Amino acid sequence: MTDGGRSFLAEETVARVVRPEICALSAYAVAKTGPNANEWVKLDAMENPYPLPDTVKARLSAALARVVINRYPDANGEGPKRALRSALGIPEDAGLLLGNGSDELIQIIVSAVARPGAVVLAPEPSFVMYRMDALYASTRFVGVPLNHDFSLDPDTILAAIARESPAVIFLAYPNNPTGNLFADADLEAIIEASPGLVVIDEAYYAFADASFLARVPERPNLLVLRTLSKVGMAGIRLGYAVAAPAWIAELNKVRQPYNVNALTQAAIEALLFETDWIAEQAAAIRAERTRLESALARLPGVRVYPTQTNFVLVRVTDANRVFDGLKTRRILIKNLNGWHPLLANCLRMTVGKPEENDLLLAALAELEPSK
Ligand code: PMP
Repeated sequence: MTDGGRSFLAEETVARVVRPEICALSAYAVAKTGPNANEWVKLDAMENPYPLPDTVKARLSAALARVVINRYPDANGEGPKRALRSALGIPEDAGLLLGNGSDELIQIIVSAVARPGAVVLAPEPSFVMYRMDALYASTRFVGVPLNHDFSLDPDTILAAIARESPAVIFLAYPNNPTGNLFADADLEAIIEASPGLVVIDEAYYAFADASFLARVPERPNLLVLRTLSKVGMAGIRLGYAVAAPAWIAELNKVRQPYNVNALTQAAIEALLFETDWIAEQAAAIRAERTRLESALARLPGVRVYPTQTNFVLVRVTDANRVFDGLKTRRILIKNLNGWHPLLANCLRMTVGKPEENDLLLAALAELEPSK
């Protein structure tokens, strides 16, 4: 043995000490495009395809040059919070918590409620991190299947709430990976019936015609979760939670003291100094989405599901074949086949720039998705 048996000993200790449910996992799969990522048409991760406008870029670089990096950042992120409140219409009397992406906030919420016997509930298929974070916190996860058209079945979910008494319910609104908005009345009924916290995850709010943000002050058990990731700022990692101050005060105790670094804090203030560019880019993405949806619907053998996000979910005859065919053409989308029985032969494609969507459509036409 070249390393004197050290790797064997490490494996033996790992197997004895690390929780078996963790050993059984594979790490979160981020697609590898290799060193030539720029040569790929990357439509797998719901990123905004547009760069920053030049004026915003200039403001950002000036702000970053002023950052004091030998000191810890402001632990409470007061500057970025002010910027977010005024730029994004956060109700004044609501509490606000910042996270290193909304991913971190989901983990914080689950750890805060993870007392023995606690249940985390979400419809499925939905964002996988709700289930994963429940597992990390040794908390039971209950997935309630959606209908075949990906709508919520209110009777099933209300029965699950009565049976399980969940500490927290996660509802992605619009839902990832299905793209649809659940019915407002169903969510209201869930909030009303829920004995615990209801998280409405509005990661895709900028592409949807509905939001629960304004209802936070009226609803003591509602938390609205958002992120800057889908509106052109995925690289800075900033998510935010809006809820009654009593919730935010407790969640804040679970947060790592310096979870939002100084560069990100400075970037938020510079990027949100004016927000027209965010709305303009979101409008361009929505217009491209409409074009992509109708072009996809014209392809034989492609079923397009309604979307209120920056991605489109489709069902084809053989998703694996279409996915591999796109990959050989350096077009990366998400293959959802095998994720959940309701997603058999489904593919998720992020809305890209017009020229990227054209490449996708041309490749799909060649691949004949009806076969
Ligand atoms: N919620 C939903 C519904 C998502 O789809 C995602 C990202 N795919 C996130 C939260 C996490 O986003 P981030 O950590 O980038 O804020």
